[in-house]
Amino acid sequence: MTITSPTPDLTGTRLRTGADYLAALSDGRDVRVDGEQVTDVAGHPAFRGVAETMAAMYDAAGAPGSPLVDPETGRLALFTVPRTRAQHDLRKVALEEWNRMSHGFIGRGPDHVSGLLAGFAGNPGVFDTDEHQLGATVVAFHDYAAAGGLWITNSIVPPQANPNDPTSRVTPVHLVEKTSEGIVVSGAQMLGTGAAVADEIFVTSVRPLAPTEPEKALSFVVPVNAPGLRLICRRPYATSGSRFDYPLSNRLDESDAMVAFDRVLVPWDRVFAAGSVEVVNRQFFGTAAHQIGNLQSIIRLTAKLRFLTGVAAKVARANGRDSDLAIKMQLADLATIQTVSESLTESAHAFATADDQGVIRPAGKYLYAALGMQTEVYPRAVRMLGELVGGGVIQVPSSVLDLDDPESIASMDLLMGSDHLPMVERVKLFKLAWDLVGSEFAGRHVQYERFYSGAAPVVKMYAHRHYPFAEAEALVEEFLGSYDATQR
Ligand SMILES: Cc1cc2nc3c(=O)[nH]c(=O)nc-3n(C[C@H](O)[C@H](O)[C@H](O)COP(=O)(O)OP(=O)(O)OC[C@H]3O[C@@H](n4cnc5c(N)ncnc54)[C@H](O)[C@@H]3O)c2cc1C
Repeated sequence: MTITSPTPDLTGTRLRTGADYLAALSDGRDVRVDGEQVTDVAGHPAFRGVAETMAAMYDAAGAPGSPLVDPETGRLALFTVPRTRAQHDLRKVALEEWNRMSHGFIGRGPDHVSGLLAGFAGNPGVFDTDEHQLGATVVAFHDYAAAGGLWITNSIVPPQANPNDPTSRVTPVHLVEKTSEGIVVSGAQMLGTGAAVADEIFVTSVRPLAPTEPEKALSFVVPVNAPGLRLICRRPYATSGSRFDYPLSNRLDESDAMVAFDRVLVPWDRVFAAGSVEVVNRQFFGTAAHQIGNLQSIIRLTAKLRFLTGVAAKVARANGRDSDLAIKMQLADLATIQTVSESLTESAHAFATADDQGVIRPAGKYLYAALGMQTEVYPRAVRMLGELVGGGVIQVPSSVLDLDDPESIASMDLLMGSDHLPMVERVKLFKLAWDLVGSEFAGRHVQYERFYSGAAPVVKMYAHRHYPFAEAEALVEEFLGSYDATQR
C-alpha cells in the first residue's frame, strides 16, 4: 500500500503559494459532512472560506520582506528551531504576523504543529530507543515539513467514552502491526481541528500513558489522504450565511473533525514513536516542543482578544457612548484582559532561556500562567462584549438580502440611520459583533478556548509546575522567622 502526500517544493528556493496549497487539497481525502463525501474540499461551501483565507496567508508570506520568512533558510520562520536569540525573535514576529492575519481565529493552522516539530527536532535523542532509532526521522520530517511549508494539524486526545461501560467499542488510535513499510494503526481520535483543510495530521497521546499501554504509545504524522483515514466533520458554520451576515464564520471556520483510522499504514519516515510509552510521555516536555508550540497559543489568544476589544470600542462609539463612565470602565476591563495576555506573552518571550540542548524555550512561568488564564478569560471577554452590545446585535435585518429592498431600507434608516454611521455600516458592525458573541461560530470559540490546551485542571497543573513556589515560600519563612511567641 502506498501513501501519496502533497508534494512539497524541496528545493528551498520557492515558498509555497496559496495556489500550491489549494491544489494540494485535491488529493482524494475522505471527508464527510452533512451526509456527503466531499470530492472538492477547496470548493465546498463548508471549507472554501477558510481555504481561501489560508491561501491568502501563504501568499502573504511570499511578499517581499515578509516577516513570515526566515531570511537564513528562505522558509516559513514558524518552523525555525530557535537556537539563537535572533531565531527566537524571528519566530515570535512571524507568529504575531500570522495571527494578525487570522485575528487568532485559526487555532490549529500551520503555526502550531510547526512549533512542536521544531521542538522535537531540537532534541531528537528523545526519540531513540533500543528498539527504534527514530530521532533522525524526526529531524528529516521537520525538514520536509518546513521545506513544503505544510499545514499539519494535530489529533492528540482519545475520544470521550465511559470507561465503566463494558460494551464500549471506543478504541483510541492504536498499533495493529509493524511491517517493513511502516506501522498499521486503527481506532479513533476525538478531534482534529482544521484536518479537512490541512495537509497532514500529527497523532499521538498528549495524556501521559501507563506502562501497560504500549499499543497506544504512538507518535506519527499522516497525510490526510492516507487510505483508511476518514474525517467526520461537525456542522460547518461557514454555511451559516453570507460573508456580510457572518463575517467570521464565513471565512475563518477552521472546521473540526472526528478522526477515524481503519488499518492506516503510516510509513516509517513519518513515525516518531512505535510502542514506547517512555518516548510518548517524554516528547513534549523532554524536548522544547510544548513550550515552543504553546508560544503560538498565547500569541494567538492575544491577537484574538485585541480584535474583540476593537469591536467593543467600535460598538461603544457607534452608540455614542464612548464617553460614558460606565462604558469606559467596561472597555477598560476588556483592555486589561488583553493587556495581561499580551504582557505574559512578552514576558514568556523575554525571559526565555536555552535548555540543555541549546534550544531557547519561552519562560514556563509566564507561558503557562497565560495558558491557565485562557480557559477563563476568553469566555469572560465574550460575556463582557455581549453586555456591551446589548440588543444591538438583534436589531439587525435577517440578511444582506434585506438591503436590496428599498422599502426595508427606508424603515431601517429610521431605526439606525445617521450621518456619522450610515445604516449599512452599523448593520455590518453589529453582525460582526454577533459572530463574536452569539452565533454558532461564537459558541464554538468559547468552548474552544475552554479546552484549547486541555481541560482547565490539566492546564493549571502546567502552571503549577512552572511557578517558583519555593521563592515565595522563602519570603514567608523569613518573615515568620522574624518573630516568635515571646513577642507580644
Ligand atoms: C472546539 C474544539 C476543538 C478541538 N480541537 C482539537 C484538536 O484539534 N486536536 C485535539 O487533539 N483535540 C481537540 N479538541 C479536544 C480537546 O483536546 C479536549 O476537549 C480536551 O483535551 C479536554 O478533553 P475532554 O473534552 O475529553 O474533556 P474532559 O477532560 O473529559 O473534561 C471534562 C470535564 O472534566 C474535568 N476534568 C478533566 N480532567 C480533570 C482532572 N484531571 N481533574 C479534575 N477535573 C478534570 C474538566 O475540568 C471538565 O470540567 C478540541 C476541543 C474543542 C472543544
